Order: sequence, then structure tokens, then C-alpha cells
Amino acid sequence: MINEKACGALILESDYYEGKAFNELYEYNGDDLGAIYTKEKTTFRVWAPFAEKMSLIIYKSGDIEDEKPGEKHDMKKDVKGTWVLLIDGDLNGTFYTYSVVNPGICEMEAGDPYAKAVGINGDRSAVIDLSITNPKNWEFDVKPPFESINDAVIYELHIRDLAMNESSGIINKGKFIEFTEDVPNTKDGITRGINHLKELGVTHVHLLPAFDYGTIDEKTLEKNEFNWGYDPKNYNVPEGSYSTDPWTPEVRIREFKEMVQSLHKNGLRVVMDVVYNHTNDNVTSKFHILAPGYYYRMNLDGTFKDGSYCGSETASECAMMRKYIVDSVKYWAQEYHVDGFRFDLMGLHDIETMNLIKEELEKIDKSIIVYGEGWDMGNLLRERRAIQPYAAQMEGISFFNDNVRDNIKGPWNDIKGHGFVDGKQNMEFAIMKAAAGSITYNDIVKDYNKEPGQSINYVECHDNNTLWDKLLAANPNTEETDLIKMSMLSNAIVLTSQGVPFLHAGVEFLRTKAGVENSFKSPDSINALDWNRKLKYINVFNYYKGLIELRMEHPAFRMKRTSEIREHLVFCKSPKNTVAYIIKNSANQDKWKNIFVIYNSNKCNTDITIPCANWNVVAKGDKAGVRILESLETDKITIPPISMIIMYSNDNIEISDLFHNKQLVTRKLNSIS
Ligand code: CA
Repeated sequence: MINEKACGALILESDYYEGKAFNELYEYNGDDLGAIYTKEKTTFRVWAPFAEKMSLIIYKSGDIEDEKPGEKHDMKKDVKGTWVLLIDGDLNGTFYTYSVVNPGICEMEAGDPYAKAVGINGDRSAVIDLSITNPKNWEFDVKPPFESINDAVIYELHIRDLAMNESSGIINKGKFIEFTEDVPNTKDGITRGINHLKELGVTHVHLLPAFDYGTIDEKTLEKNEFNWGYDPKNYNVPEGSYSTDPWTPEVRIREFKEMVQSLHKNGLRVVMDVVYNHTNDNVTSKFHILAPGYYYRMNLDGTFKDGSYCGSETASECAMMRKYIVDSVKYWAQEYHVDGFRFDLMGLHDIETMNLIKEELEKIDKSIIVYGEGWDMGNLLRERRAIQPYAAQMEGISFFNDNVRDNIKGPWNDIKGHGFVDGKQNMEFAIMKAAAGSITYNDIVKDYNKEPGQSINYVECHDNNTLWDKLLAANPNTEETDLIKMSMLSNAIVLTSQGVPFLHAGVEFLRTKAGVENSFKSPDSINALDWNRKLKYINVFNYYKGLIELRMEHPAFRMKRTSEIREHLVFCKSPKNTVAYIIKNSANQDKWKNIFVIYNSNKCNTDITIPCANWNVVAKGDKAGVRILESLETDKITIPPISMIIMYSNDNIEISDLFHNKQLVTRKLNSIS
């Protein structure tokens, strides 16, 4: 079963690593992996189950290019594949690595996977006294009130994007502490930076990778290089290029905490984008050096499996990898007060691991949210993958909903392709599915989620073209005024649908990346938010702001259970290329009795018959919010082209359910599909 390969790694069949026999020998359950610091002593414990010899090397410098040799200390073999060493004295700020001799492999050096601090570029680990990294009043940090993921409005942001454009007015550009700046408004009264996020009214700021990643050279920050950061180097340490001093280990830690503290103070929660499914490198990664072949899914010929084409798949199904992910997530939640986690390529992880993560986080704080990309890929047995079709097995975990995304604006992989908002026909049922939270609403309107909160509804994220660029490319001869309407209608659907709305930073002022589809390493000039667009498209911004306010004030848009949606949300008959529904009987304790929502993608005014009542219109054309725009007693309304209307009535109304005659509807469905 053991093969020694040319690369020197010990390759075992992965089911052996996963199995009982291996775990009985080597599964370590302690919570003291890494460097456990006190002023009097530091204890090091590392898991290296195959090692013949382990040493700890202490360095004065955190820079791997500093050639002064370190001080080598032998480690002692301990329980369950771990090695330990205790060093007396105050080691705060000391740099270290491990040196390992595995069978048939020459001695190799690696950082500590459990490192809580690192030197420049994350190559050497550092012992840290975490108590000195806490900003002033950290112990009084209070999270903004929040209960359930259904109440979230998530805003996805890259740290540099908020600030790097000159128009941002931010001083500490591209740094964690940019979020601590009370940026003055422009002369036109435009808010920017954290004040913009507050004004918009989102609940969660979801940061693209902010843990230590590999691609940016922290020594040459003056080059202003950009990267999304999906190349993890040290999972438990903040990225150095976002700190004001990546050389001094405590600085990035303190500044990350200052960011969280400031966001919390301003009513915003923080989500981390976590990328445990692959690492920056494989053969030279600290995981592989310390326990060759264990942490990754490997072929028996010693090569790494890479089912995502994003890097070698890690093996969450193996106990010590699973434990690593769980420990890491818990550490961010506890030490840094992080409020949520977005799992990159979650489909590469196994269901059991994802459920354990959720369970462990709930013990810390029930309001922490967990969601991810449940795309179906990778080399794990399909039934075990944390993917959309198995949502029912992962209650409390949410999934990016690509059906919602592509049905509203067109397919991600066909730039010329259309969706509901820009004229694709026969999309009514697809949009109904989105509106109902992609649950099983009935036999016709149904998708994979067990509960609505499992649906992360979105039309734009950091991947692929921005909504604006996509609509522009797919509709080259369309007037800008119509493109704006299409863009607004897209997120009008997202922000009124059941489930969890997710916005990509800048979409609220028609963000463009100049048609660059994959901007993962494009310069700031492509990626950074251009705040001049906010002034230019202030109506669009105000529309988003109004819709978020409406959503936050009206729980009817945030029903928690599938059963409530089935009971309260009724689809109505409406003309072609429109979707109309009523959320009836004060759903989810809403103060409005009946709420009528209509999406119209026709390029012309469209008349629709509605239940006769006194209606108060709160969203129409480019206006939306909680303020009444007009009141009318009517049974008919005209919806302007490519737009949404929302109105409410506290009257008793007679609703005719589109699905009342199911056979008829099924026939209609068959005829269009
Ligand atoms: Ca780094």
C-alpha cells in the first residue's frame, strides 16, 4: 500500500489515510498545535506522523533571504504523530521553522501550518503574544445585532478596490486600516469608504482573501501589484501587503483587528473569504513537507489531483485536514471576531466537514454565517461533496445560486447570451424560482434548497464580467438608459427575492472593469472602484439604497422557512415577460398586510390587472424605498419598461393564484421548455 516515489513523498491510498486504522494511530485531537506562548515559556507541537526526526529552528530574522543560520533544537516524539519542544523564556517576536526528516526524503524546512504570526512574505513563522496585538478597547468590541442569514445583505469587496482610485479620498489606501478612516464627503456630498457602506445599508462586508497569500511580494509594495489572493500561504495570519508594516509580525494582526473593530462600530459585520481547498504550492507547501501525501488528494503515481484547475485539492475528508480547517475557522471567529465565512470551491470539501464547521461555529456564536461555492467538481466521491444538490444535508449552510445569476442576466460563459432582464423569452418560471428562494415551492417552481436562507442570490461577483460590462457586451446597440434599467432590474430581483442578497462592490454605481473578464491580477486601474461613477449614477445608487432599506424594514422579504413561503407567497397571472406575486397576510410579522411585486422585462409599458384595493406604491421606475410614491385605488396598473413595481395594501384582498389550476400551468410550462 505504501509507494515511495521519485518526488520522495510517501503516497498512500487516500482511503487508508481516512480510515480507522490510520486515525487510531495518528489522529491528534489536542488544541495545542503550533506555538503556545506564555511570557515564561513557549511550547511547540507539530503533527508530522511519518517523521524520523524533527527539529525546531529559531531565527532572529523573519526574512528567509537573511542567510544567518538559525539555532536548531531537537524535538521529542510525542503522542499521535506529534512532536513537541518547550523553550523557556519570553519568545514573543521570535521567528521559527520546523526541520523534518521523512523516510527516504532529505531534510526539509517548513513554516508552521498553525502559525499565528509570520515574518515578511510569510516564509518564517513567528511566536506572538496575542495580547499585545489587541487594539484599544478590543475587549469592548460589540458585533452589530444580527440573527439569521436571511437578514443579511452581503457586499463583496477586495480591500484595494475600495481605496486605490484617487477619487476614494482614502489615505491608507489598500490597507486594513482604510476601514478606520472617516473619509470626508466630496464637494457634491458623495460618501466614500466605510461611510459609503454604511449609507448603502448592507449588513455584511465580505472581504476577498485577507489571510496571508503568496502572489504579492510584501517587500516591494511600492509596485502596487494587485491580486485577488486565492493562493493561500498562511491560513491563520492576515495578509502582509494589507498592513502598514509586513515586516513586524504584530502589525498586520493588530491592523486586521482594527478593521473588524471599526466595521463593527459602524454597524457592519465581516465575512472572510476562506480558501482551504488548495494551497499556494503543493510539493513545497508546509503541509506536504511535514506530512507528505497526507493533506492532499493524490494519485498513486505521486502526482496531485486538481479537479478544479485552481491548485492541488486538499483532502478535507482526512481527519487532520478536517481538524485543520475547523481549527482555523474557529480561530478567526474567536481571535479576530469574524462574523462569517465564504468557502471558496466548497464543492471540493466533504459534507461532513462543512457540517462540523457550522456546528463548531454555532457553539461560538449562532449568528456567524457560512456559505460557499457548491460547484460540483473534484475527486471526492460525488455523494460526499458539499454541493448544491445536497443542500438538504447541510442545513444552515448557504450556496451561491448560479441559476438565479444566469437566469436574470444571462449565462456567465457566453458574453453575448441574454437573460430575463435583457430580453430572453420564457424566463418567467425561472424568475419565479428565484423570487421564491429556490426552494421546492411546488412541482413547477422548485430548486435545490431546503430552506430559503440557503440561497445566496446574486448577479455579479468578483468572477467574470461585471453586470454592467456583461449587459453592454450582450446588448451593443441598446441605449445606455435601457442598460441602466436592465442593471437595476437585475438587482431589484435579487434584493426582493427570498434568500440572501449578495452584491459585488460597485454594482450600485454600475461598476465596470473595462470588459476584463478575469481581473485577478489586473492593475488597480481596472479593479478599483471609481467614485466618480457614484456621482454620475447617483440615481442608481439611491435605488439600491432604497431597496436595501425596504428589505431591512420588511421581514416579508426575509422569510426563514420554506413552509412560510408556500403559505404567504402567491404568484399571480401576468403578461408575458413579467413576473408578479403577492406576499400576503403580514408574512413574517410584516406591518404591511399584502405586498405586490412585479418585475417587467418588456421594453414597453405593460398593463397588469391586480386585486382591487387601496395600493401604496413604494417602488416604481428608478425609485424605491419605504416612502409612499403614490396611492391609488385600482385594479389595474401600468409598469414602466424594464422595471419593478412594489406596492402594499392593508385591505383584505382577493387573490387569484396562478397555480390554482396546476394542469394548465404545467401545460404552459411544457410548451415553453
Ligand atoms: Ca503574503
